[in-house]
Amino acid sequence: MNTLDLESQLVRLRAMYAAQLPNRLAQLNAAIDALCAQPEDEAAQQALYRVAHRLAGSGSAMGMPLLSSAAFALVQLLDNLPPAQARGGLFAFQLRSYAAAMAISINGAPRTMSAPSAVETYAVVEQLHRLTQVAVIARDNEDFTELPQQLSHFGYQAVRCRIDEIPSDTQAYAALVVELDELANAGHEPARRAKLPAVPIIATSARSDMAARLQALRLGVESFLPQPFAIGVLVETLDRITMRLPSDAPRVLIVDDSYTAARIHKAILEAAGMVAEIVLDPLAALEPLADFAPDLLLVDLYMPGCTGLELAAVVRQQAEYVSLPIVFLSTETDRAIQLAALADVGDDFLTKPVIGSQLVTAIIARVARARALRAQISRDGLTGLLNHATILAQLAHEVERAQRCCTPLSVALLDIDHFKQVNDTYGHQAGDRVLKSLARALQQRLRASDGIGRYGGEEFLVVMPGADAPAARRVLDDVRERFAQIHHHDGPLRWSTTFSAGIVSSDLPVASLINGADAALYTAKRRGRNRIVCYNSNE
Ligand code: GH3
Ligand code: MG
Ligand code: MG
Repeated sequence: MNTLDLESQLVRLRAMYAAQLPNRLAQLNAAIDALCAQPEDEAAQQALYRVAHRLAGSGSAMGMPLLSSAAFALVQLLDNLPPAQARGGLFAFQLRSYAAAMAISINGAPRTMSAPSAVETYAVVEQLHRLTQVAVIARDNEDFTELPQQLSHFGYQAVRCRIDEIPSDTQAYAALVVELDELANAGHEPARRAKLPAVPIIATSARSDMAARLQALRLGVESFLPQPFAIGVLVETLDRITMRLPSDAPRVLIVDDSYTAARIHKAILEAAGMVAEIVLDPLAALEPLADFAPDLLLVDLYMPGCTGLELAAVVRQQAEYVSLPIVFLSTETDRAIQLAALADVGDDFLTKPVIGSQLVTAIIARVARARALRAQISRDGLTGLLNHATILAQLAHEVERAQRCCTPLSVALLDIDHFKQVNDTYGHQAGDRVLKSLARALQQRLRASDGIGRYGGEEFLVVMPGADAPAARRVLDDVRERFAQIHHHDGPLRWSTTFSAGIVSSDLPVASLINGADAALYTAKRRGRNRIVCYNSNE
């Protein structure tokens, strides 16, 4: 066979391979869904392992290194499965990130043959996080007229368009919301894939029977929503399939006297969507630890002034850091020293130079486990917000810090207006969904450093470090306006709900802050509700 023949054979093989990829990725996604639904099911683990392993091998043979390395990262994750109780949100997020990276790698620009670094792979994943454009395709259905505006309250930019207006070769949209009939009219799987970009599709239909669901499944949709659906359900689905991390990306504090090493590790973690900060002097690590409140400490073993082991021991002596995961980094390869480090204080040991994907995998797994443990004791089950005791503890912490750093601090108490009526008219479950949507609206709008807690039944406490009263008021007024525009559904019934809030902003002790916010809230209720009042001690 001459070179030309070989070349054309390869081109043909690659084309055949590329044509099968959408199906293989659909298999992969189905296997991920199955595993996320039953994280302890070994058959599901093995099924996913087989699909990912095959993609890793074939992708590399076919000159698709991005596809292959994302598949390989997934295989590695399965090789190092986190413990069963830690296979929650972050684990699912990670699985889906890899699948998304693979989807982008086959739909993006032509690949070169050079192997990508882990940083590149994660950069692709991160790129996807920024895409929050959604296309809504529903012909003549009035229920969908207001969907784009409703979605905008939750941070999605949605456009309504016809199915043939969707550009097939771009990633302009992070997801499509399509009426099942429109999708079916556009043709069956291969033809449809040729027309529509390979982004997740949410199909919706007035039919909700088995036949409709099966039809949707066979058209390759990611998720099926029977109409009418509550906006919150659509938002939750979009969050899940577009993998938008809420503002709780893992936070990592890097303590390393080598600026170069620290910078590299920071870049790798940030490319994977985490937030990282560097401390070069271990003796100055305690303050950033309190201020930055990391989920994990990444510590070099040998540093001048104090070793990583000593630093870890000092940190662990403080009650609030007893369960903070600590990972050691060092060029030290002596197993005995590593084992001593693990036995003493640390959780893990990575040897420098550490491979990017290993670093990311080790950190995400540990953060997920620590968070799962913490969440069990600190979160409210219905809304996922901090519970009463935890938000008060956070308030105390922020009050102390604001006094120490002389920075402003605002505290707000929110209470839903006439909530009893919502329960009485639409039922307790509908009331619960309203609570969740307010929690979601707050999470969407506030900063990662703000604390949001469920203070009581339908009362929320918000702690905003760095915000003075006018700033806090601006933000909460924005939340108030957006929330008031959300249409809540219960079957055919629709309504909207409002809240009132009291804000206090000063350097008072915790109890006085709460009393002040409560007094201002009471004034807001008295003045007619659906408003925000700042505390004025003269009233
Ligand atoms: P106001 O505007 O003065 O705040 O009126 P309101 O009806 O909201 O106030 P009220 O304190 O009379 O009623 C609060 C209601 O919130 C009563 C309670 O049943 C309801 N509630 C508390 N916790 C929950 C919950 O977890 N789920 C639901 N659905 N309702 C809750
Ligand atoms: Mg109340
Ligand atoms: Mg109320």
